Amino acid sequence: MTHITSSTIGYPRIGEQREWKKTLEKYWNGTISKQELLETTKEIRLNGLRKQKEKGIDLIPVGDFSLYDHVLDTSLMFGIIPQRFQNNSLGSSSLDTYFAIARGTKEAYASEMTKWFNTNYHYIVPEFDDAKPILTENRLLHFYKEAKEELGIEGKPVILGPISFLKLGKGYKEADFQALLETFLPLYIQVLKELETEGVTWVQIDEPILVTDLSETDFAYIKQAYESIAKAVPNIKLILQTYFESVTHYEEVVKLPVAALGLDFVHGKTLELLQQFGFPQDKQLFAGVIDGRNVWRQDLEETWGLLEAIQQIIDKERIIVQPSCSLLHVPITKHLEQTLDPIIKGGLSFADEKLTEIAVLADGLQNGKEKVLEEIHESKTALQALNQSHYRGKSRQTVDRHEWQAERPAPFQQRIEEQRTELQLPLLPTTTIGSLPQTAEVRKQRLKWRRGDVPTQEYEQFIQKEMKKWIKIQEDIGLDVLVHGEFERTDMVEYFGEKLNGFQVTKYGWVQSYGSRCVKPPLIFGDVSFQNPMTVKESVYAQSLTDKHVKGMLTGPVTILNWSFVRDDIPEFDVLNQIAIALRSEIEELEKNNIKIIQVDEPALREGLPLKKADWNTYLDHAVYAFRLATATVKNSTQIHTHMCYSSFGDIYDAINRLDADVISIETSRSHGELISTFEENTYEKEIGLGVYDIHSPRVPTKEEIKHNIQRALATIPVKQFWINPDCGLKTRKEEETIAALEIMVEAAKEIREEQLHSLEK
Ligand code: GLN
Ligand code: ZN
Repeated sequence: MTHITSSTIGYPRIGEQREWKKTLEKYWNGTISKQELLETTKEIRLNGLRKQKEKGIDLIPVGDFSLYDHVLDTSLMFGIIPQRFQNNSLGSSSLDTYFAIARGTKEAYASEMTKWFNTNYHYIVPEFDDAKPILTENRLLHFYKEAKEELGIEGKPVILGPISFLKLGKGYKEADFQALLETFLPLYIQVLKELETEGVTWVQIDEPILVTDLSETDFAYIKQAYESIAKAVPNIKLILQTYFESVTHYEEVVKLPVAALGLDFVHGKTLELLQQFGFPQDKQLFAGVIDGRNVWRQDLEETWGLLEAIQQIIDKERIIVQPSCSLLHVPITKHLEQTLDPIIKGGLSFADEKLTEIAVLADGLQNGKEKVLEEIHESKTALQALNQSHYRGKSRQTVDRHEWQAERPAPFQQRIEEQRTELQLPLLPTTTIGSLPQTAEVRKQRLKWRRGDVPTQEYEQFIQKEMKKWIKIQEDIGLDVLVHGEFERTDMVEYFGEKLNGFQVTKYGWVQSYGSRCVKPPLIFGDVSFQNPMTVKESVYAQSLTDKHVKGMLTGPVTILNWSFVRDDIPEFDVLNQIAIALRSEIEELEKNNIKIIQVDEPALREGLPLKKADWNTYLDHAVYAFRLATATVKNSTQIHTHMCYSSFGDIYDAINRLDADVISIETSRSHGELISTFEENTYEKEIGLGVYDIHSPRVPTKEEIKHNIQRALATIPVKQFWINPDCGLKTRKEEETIAALEIMVEAAKEIREEQLHSLEK
């Protein structure tokens, strides 16, 4: 292959119009055949490759594409199939087994899903219990050949490296790590050997785990592993790829026996490390200089400066320009955004636009700065226009912590007494997390309304009708605290983005969140502030229909920030506090309107946690402050709830406590008892609901399972503090399965309530 100057790490799977999502869902619903699924997704995959080639990328990844998740792909490639999915009714179809592990079946619960490092992408956690790994199919070889045959592209196969793969999984003891690693290494080597035989040159092996706080022992294993891999495939050029932060053991990492290192120069301190410790003469550098995590255009003058600084240490022949991580985390192209404010649009760069930036920078690196001048000029003009019209010129509202009350006036014990008197809830109250099924009809009406085909009044009546229907359903099921259902929201962040100052929403800016689920993070371009009440109308209406309490429902400041694309040149923590102050106005409005329970969701709090522990305190301090800033001004008797997904409660126990929410609900059912052990070690005095069934799977749980989950929790958590709820919002579920599951949950709760009341009396 000729001289390589530019590369990418991964490309979005979902298609410009989310064709991927639609195809998968059709297959799951049984409306298309396997054949059709495979053909359509192949077209989407080839399109992505074609585009990267046309934009001028030299080294294009293959095998990064997935039908659900790349970690699950790796598991299946190595035959890691949880026992409960073996020999079941799925027969021998590996594709259906694949989807079953991800989504669950009637007989078997799905594998746990968790966030991919500090992103909102979720991967399926490998279960290594009694693993007997085998190579089932060399998917890298398959995709390499496909790209070559179909498009004449000499691709770069991508594989998740053994250390990261194992570290991201569960079902083995720390002490057995080395032994487990040894069972996988021969398989990794076999994959690489087959690629070598096929004539593959470059292979990207992803080891993002290298940016986390690995121990010395772990590092020793890494060294051994890569030594044996390097020895086995001398003709393959391995790119050891890291992202999301700078690597932790830099001096050791650069000595590993690989041909190239892929480093993130956007996040962390990679340039400083390079300057301090140098870079080996015998290696190439895949320099991640274009931010793969943000959609705002970079000032290419600065990026050029970064490349020049790198050249002080490494000669340009050994530098390959690429994004900081896979482009999976950004939407595909801004060209579809026909209605976006042109100045804001000018300041954006989605995946395809980033490809151009990369190709131009690579050209400049090889052939001189003249090649980039035009692109630099364009980026600067676009960003200046953005500053003049939307950001500078307006004074920024920075928050002086001394001036803002961010603490509730009374301690929890006093508040909870007043709340109990006010709310009069039974022991083990039942509730849901907020959203209820968004049927095709709900989505259709919203779309029509957005297009102007349905007048606002009619649309609002439709939403009211849904709320009314579901208030009745919730009452019939016997839930204690009701929700209005969030039918008016497409997305829990976008909804607020549309209503707060300082935000813009896109039309097609989708990114994959989990499986076929995509989200559309709003853009934050300037000062954020409150305009008008955002949720009051719906909450008040729903409350008017019932004597039970209906929770007010908001997305918290940390989640709004983490799930939006904030401009790089605005201080993040300022934005966070601005969002908090805006939400505080909303919460005060809800309280004024007689809403007595207000839930402020923070599902993204854990995911935003920096990858290096040393940075945790700063982040958590700001996160806790912002949450309190938003929620501190309510009466003692107003109950503040919060909700978190996949929170690794143990890691941030103290911060969760400091949020000072009266009630927290946490997702746990896919990780089962793991969370409960945290409570064995710590006493938590506030009220808490641990999700008692998994909502990410269409499977309806049995009463026994739910009772078992509740009982296990009650073994450590005092019954008076415990709430009963599903794991997360029910928006993506179908109506029938939701009603069935909630009925079972309430029945289970009632039975346990009886037992508990009995024993409390004794
Ligand atoms: N209230 C939101 C819902 O129920 C919470 C979603 C989430 O935690 N991601 O959909
Ligand atoms: Zn959740």
